[in-house]
Amino acid sequence: MTGVNSGRRIAIVGAGIGGLTLAVELRRRGLEPQVYEQTDELREVGAAVALSANATRFLRDRTGIGEGLAHKAADVDGLVFRDGRDGRVIGRVLSREEYRARCGAPYYGIHRADLQQLLAGALDGAGLHLGKRLLSVDDTGTAGAVLHFADGDRAEADLVLGADGARSLLRREVVGYDDARFSGCYGWRGIVGPDHLDLLPDPEAIQFWMGPGGHLLHYPIGSGDQNFLLVKRLKGPWPEQAWLAPSAPGEHVAAFEGWHPAVLQMIAAAPAGERWGLFHRPPLHQWSRGRVTLLGDAAHALVPHHGQGANQSIEDAIVLADCLTSALARGEDWESARLRYQARRLERTRRVQIASITTADVLHLPDGPRAETRDRRLGAPDAWERHLAWIHEYAADDADAPA
Ligand SMILES: Cc1cc2nc3c(=O)[nH]c(=O)nc-3n(C[C@H](O)[C@H](O)[C@H](O)COP(=O)(O)OP(=O)(O)OC[C@H]3O[C@@H](n4cnc5c(N)ncnc54)[C@H](O)[C@@H]3O)c2cc1C
Repeated sequence: MTGVNSGRRIAIVGAGIGGLTLAVELRRRGLEPQVYEQTDELREVGAAVALSANATRFLRDRTGIGEGLAHKAADVDGLVFRDGRDGRVIGRVLSREEYRARCGAPYYGIHRADLQQLLAGALDGAGLHLGKRLLSVDDTGTAGAVLHFADGDRAEADLVLGADGARSLLRREVVGYDDARFSGCYGWRGIVGPDHLDLLPDPEAIQFWMGPGGHLLHYPIGSGDQNFLLVKRLKGPWPEQAWLAPSAPGEHVAAFEGWHPAVLQMIAAAPAGERWGLFHRPPLHQWSRGRVTLLGDAAHALVPHHGQGANQSIEDAIVLADCLTSALARGEDWESARLRYQARRLERTRRVQIASITTADVLHLPDGPRAETRDRRLGAPDAWERHLAWIHEYAADDADAPA
């Protein structure tokens, strides 16, 4: 199995959010990437993503799935910070209309499977190979890299784009070892229907409920459901073998005893049968080795406290597609395109990675003067400008945009 366009054979490993966005954008611009995905079906049950304007602008204007998104997603109305125990509002920024006016695109909550289906629909099956789990890449030959799959199949490519997520095999090819690090936090995820949300204030907002050593983040995802991520801090290393570990029934509710009734009602309504160890990876100086180049979580796995993992993957995909197609138009080689892509993405993603880590520290402050300072800052009129505008208002396709 080989791609088309000799000398321009592009393999994308992983049909997640970054890989699919990249494939759609490259096809739209006349290239014919082949996408290899390990699962037999594009479906992840029980998970959602919040898509901010720095990504929805591209999904709408480039990939052409804007209408489908507007239909499937919930249109988030404001970002609210609350005290997790008494429920008081600590800060509130930008209504739905203000957000669109400032950022030029919507803020959505959506089922991950819906997003993948929309992107796969835009691809219309072209070059998408399901059930292809990459086992290894042989990049020693002169004729191209050879990808070996678990089913015994092989494929050749001149460029291998690693969009294989936070546990990326291709990152190990580039880095040489597994560099995952436990972030000190773990969490439970759940999706809750409207019948269990009657205590919830601001159901259309994305909300952070903060408290010592933990927080709840939730947002609407369409059809009245809320997606939540409940995060707790752990003293010491992650004690499990795998990132995902079983959780006893009700363990997540017991861990948040004494929190606001709306919090307890929401989390108690979800089984939350698994605990997620939240891992990230250190920023790299280079995202390529040989014919392999990384994007998305494979390049910069980050913790989800700014809700930016999917959004950064989409930014990467758009910039990488821009760099590859403009290099071709100018008759340049892939190498210059890859260097330009990396130069445009390294600092931006490093900043978002670090902010995602420090956000948890700020959300989890113990009661006292530092928490009071945080609350004053989040409640100040310039809270958006100081803390969030640089993420959401960023236009990754503008080469002159600040990193
Ligand atoms: C608890 C939690 C909550 C989150 N919430 C949000 C949020 O609200 N907003 C947000 O923006 N982000 C969120 N994220 C992060 C987000 O899900 C990821 O950052 C994002 O999906 C990364 O996109 P990606 O394309 O790089 O990788 P993925 O979307 O993970 O896709 C990787 C793909 O590669 C495939 N793959 C892996 N290995 C192989 C292989 N060997 N061969 C073939 N295929 C392979 C996988 O099956 C998968 O389809 C959250 C993450 C977690 C853990």
